[in-house]
Amino acid sequence: MKALVYHGPGNKAWEEVPDPQVQAPTDAIVRIEMTTICGTDLHILKGDVPAVTDGRILGHEGVGVVTEVGPECTKVAVGDRVIISCITKCMECEYCTRGLTSHCQKVGGIGWIFGHLIDGTQAELVRVPYADNGLIPLPEGVTAEQGVMLSDILPTGFEIGVQYGQVGAGDVVAVVGAGPVGLAAIMTATATGATVIAVDGNTFRLQEARSFGADDTIDIGATDDVVGELKKRSRYGLGVDVAIEAVGLPATFTTCLDAIRPGGRVANVGVHGAPVQFPIERDWINNITVTTGLVNATTAPQLLDQITEGRIQPEKFVTHRFRLDEIIDAYDTFSRAADENAMKVIMTA
Ligand code: NAD
Ligand code: ZN
Repeated sequence: MKALVYHGPGNKAWEEVPDPQVQAPTDAIVRIEMTTICGTDLHILKGDVPAVTDGRILGHEGVGVVTEVGPECTKVAVGDRVIISCITKCMECEYCTRGLTSHCQKVGGIGWIFGHLIDGTQAELVRVPYADNGLIPLPEGVTAEQGVMLSDILPTGFEIGVQYGQVGAGDVVAVVGAGPVGLAAIMTATATGATVIAVDGNTFRLQEARSFGADDTIDIGATDDVVGELKKRSRYGLGVDVAIEAVGLPATFTTCLDAIRPGGRVANVGVHGAPVQFPIERDWINNITVTTGLVNATTAPQLLDQITEGRIQPEKFVTHRFRLDEIIDAYDTFSRAADENAMKVIMTA
């Protein structure tokens, strides 16, 4: 088969590799129909994720058709059209049974293994461990483009942003960063009935934020007091109820901490590479909550229901479409997302 293979920082190729085989009785093989590129794939290509080694097939998002199952698969069958979850999980260990599938102990302590510790989905075929748990049937009436957003992006914004932030109807929520992850938080937060203010410096993304449901936007290039602008839009002027960090920079984490009211919540989604300031001498008295974590992707079925009910429209993420064998061009477009007005770049086999 053909696959997108990582060859060390800065190097990748669409090349011929051996077909994957069933290795464990709980494995399945899926023929990829559609896949996409995540910001994490760009981090890997920069060399930021050293666990990814030369020869690894990248990608952790996809929709496809099951072509082979191991003898212990009881839920998935050959011919099923499925969404591939970015999180691999045994559903038996203590972490999985408590819903923390992102730390499945049988998978090695971190549930994100596709395109990381094992070969991923940017290929014609992929081996899926614990296939009964990691493959979600794609219902009639849900398109592949809608389904592929449930592999990672929508659960990430929803679980680590909206759920961890305990966003509810009536809350005023700041979403700092309106990239795909921030937009996923905006889409799922507005579906709860919250009022959402999007913060970004990119005009296209701020426009998109409104189409994803944001009630208001703040352009960081147009003010030097983002926190003041957020407080002005909050109830009593005390600060927003929830601030969702969807960038991954010290400055945006600080914005979030500064912008919440007493009793407020910061839900950090961003992946950080540098330490942040936490002013405990100011905030010990403020009864705040700060959460952070890796997506569990356990809400995909719930989000699927929201799609079939027409409450969320994840196809809005798709800005560019390529054939799977044009994946190098797709990476080129996605890596210049700001110039290309790109959000999610889709490849179809
Ligand atoms: P992205 O780079 O596409 O989007 C980030 C956005 O932040 C951009 O639109 C950019 O213009 C904006 N931005 C930059 N500086 C800003 C500032 N000072 N103030 C306001 N906005 C600013 O990234 P993405 O794909 O949307 O992902 C967002 C973050 O979520 C990344 O750090 C990513 O690694 C992380 N992530 C976390 C998880 C998880 O499980 N926790 C999963 C996936 C991605
Ligand atoms: Zn487990």
